[in-house]
Amino acid sequence: MRVVALAGGVGGARLAEGLQAALPPGDLTVVANTGDDTERHGLLVCPDHDTVLYTLAGIADPVQGWGIAGESWAVMERLGVLGEETWFRLGDRDMATHIVRTARLRAGARLTDASLAIQAALGVPSRILPMTDDAVRTRVLTDEGWLEFQDYFVRLRQLPEVRAVRFDGVDVAEPTPEVLDAVDAAEVVVLCPSNPIVSVAPILAIRGIRDAIRAARGRGAPVAAVSPIVGGKALKGPADRMLASLGHEVSAVGVARLYAGMVDVFVLDAEDAALAPDVEALGMRALVTDTIMTDGDARVRVARETLAALAAIA
Ligand code: GDP
Ligand code: CA
Repeated sequence: MRVVALAGGVGGARLAEGLQAALPPGDLTVVANTGDDTERHGLLVCPDHDTVLYTLAGIADPVQGWGIAGESWAVMERLGVLGEETWFRLGDRDMATHIVRTARLRAGARLTDASLAIQAALGVPSRILPMTDDAVRTRVLTDEGWLEFQDYFVRLRQLPEVRAVRFDGVDVAEPTPEVLDAVDAAEVVVLCPSNPIVSVAPILAIRGIRDAIRAARGRGAPVAAVSPIVGGKALKGPADRMLASLGHEVSAVGVARLYAGMVDVFVLDAEDAALAPDVEALGMRALVTDTIMTDGDARVRVARETLAALAAIA
């Protein structure tokens, strides 16, 4: 079953790992948000792609949810000594990824090709496609003004209230042929339990991607979304506070409303079972299950149950 999954970082990587394990090798294509990408020390860092990359390669740090397991920090220490800002922590092994990616880009490669080459070197059986090869940069409006996303997310630890979000460059960003072909060939599409405002929305804002998903649905390829909000809270990160400050209901229903009209199956946590009728009232089938994907077994189970619900209506 050819599956396209739209993903941010941690929540996206968790479900992507389950999908990869549940599917034959090669059947999974992940489209990764690049709105969080940032230049550090002259290198292009792609946090969401790399979280998915390390997770699907089986080398992710299991505790912090980003970076590579067993990291060392010698380069970061030296960068500090040399006067560079060090609040955006990059491990030595992780740094190699950014060096290779940046070197390939400078040699003229597209971000998609540089990313696929790194995935191949790490033996990842799935494809992880950047949502676009063009620069799109998420910015958030806080009481301190418009901030670069990583300034808000990492340096300020998501403490400021977000009053607006914009994706600089998204109007002129082109979808890649790889992304459009993957969606055209998909038998099902899955919106991972990623932050709907700053992880999934930028992907859907790329010209042509939302239309390609609509066309896929039109030819009978159903779409599922898994809620990142469980019991009115995000498991990690600012998705709950962002939904609230931007005027959305902080619940699985609030997320379902954002996806209404483009999703056939909405997966919500057993803790939120009472919300299933409200989800169904939005015109989606509700699948209620335990969606906490801390370990590998849970990731595969959520992936299998989601795919089964999609297969039942395909
Ligand atoms: P980021 O880019 O690293 O912030 O990650 P994402 O945007 O992909 O995912 C962030 C969201 O993932 C948060 O809102 C979390 O609530 C959600 N999330 C993380 N782990 C899980 C999980 O095991 N189950 C569910 N349902 N959501 C999760
Ligand atoms: Ca992210």
